[in-house]
Amino acid sequence: MAILVCGGAGYIGSHMVAHLLEQGKEVVTLDNFCTGHREAIVGGKVYEGDLRDKAILNKTFTENNIEAVIDFAAYSLVGESMSDPLKYFNNNISGTISLLEAMKDHGVKYIVFSSTAATYGEPENIPIIEDDKTFPTNAYGESKLCVEKILKWCDSAYGIKYTALRYFNAAGAHESGNIGEAHNTETHLIPLILQVPLNKREKIMIYGDDYNTEDGTCIRDYIHVSDLASAHLLAVERLMRGEESRIYNLGNGKGFSVKEVVEVARKVTEEDIKAEISERRPGDPSVLIASSDKAIKELNWKPKFNSLETIIGSAWKWHSTHPNGYNK
Ligand code: UDP
Repeated sequence: MAILVCGGAGYIGSHMVAHLLEQGKEVVTLDNFCTGHREAIVGGKVYEGDLRDKAILNKTFTENNIEAVIDFAAYSLVGESMSDPLKYFNNNISGTISLLEAMKDHGVKYIVFSSTAATYGEPENIPIIEDDKTFPTNAYGESKLCVEKILKWCDSAYGIKYTALRYFNAAGAHESGNIGEAHNTETHLIPLILQVPLNKREKIMIYGDDYNTEDGTCIRDYIHVSDLASAHLLAVERLMRGEESRIYNLGNGKGFSVKEVVEVARKVTEEDIKAEISERRPGDPSVLIASSDKAIKELNWKPKFNSLETIIGSAWKWHSTHPNGYNK
């Protein structure tokens, strides 16, 4: 019995594949390699194709004994989702619909879906709990929220059980230092900060220091990518035990300001990373911190990497040895 990882060549997906293999699971990856990297897949069987292509889905499900699916295959650039929302709705929603149709046709009953804290939009409470209102402020978050709703109807109609995992700020890299974050267009804070000591960027721009926070910069909850991976496997196993569909937040429950992240990166790299305050980035909520109590309790999830220093240290191990990502 195998687990199918859709989008297994991406940042979080590749850490998922590694974690499943480490746990002795049989893994099949399906990826269209539009943003993912073949070198990021450390093992298992690999199929190249798009979720919107029924033929490749049928082939993957026919040739393998797939018991559960973990779906990471999506576009995830918030800024791009605002300028080209249809690209996001088409890929992120149609892709998952096509996957669910194939699951229905092939009698696969379990799916763990990669969702996001962006489903909440501007939070009404901190820490954020799963029952808080969802009002996405960007098309990326909206595309993920739409899929969560589609999953609910597929559960009631076809008995496909799902777990949607709403990640906060995924960060860090595999302990081996062999796989890590490698986006063609990098927008995330930690990899951008680490480009400064790698001499790929002169300074890091801090997007606004006039927020209503202690030092005026935005606060986020950073969660290690391998801790995200472990939560997905626990979610698959929970569904296989016959438990009901659920939505869980995944974060560390601790917030760090942009300035604090820069300071920890200076300590980890032992470099004086230059930073400059610039304009706010449109659509950034001031504070996003998860309550992951539900995941900790119901999934028996125990995040291992709960210090920001360890998280940034693991990212540094990857970036300093792979300054060009997977490119030679
Ligand atoms: N940020 C920043 N400079 C950058 C990139 C990001 O100040 O070059 C800030 C951003 O405004 C946010 C935080 O860092 O408050 C985390 O941003 P990221 O894009 O990593 O994740 P997001 O919270 O948007 O998912």
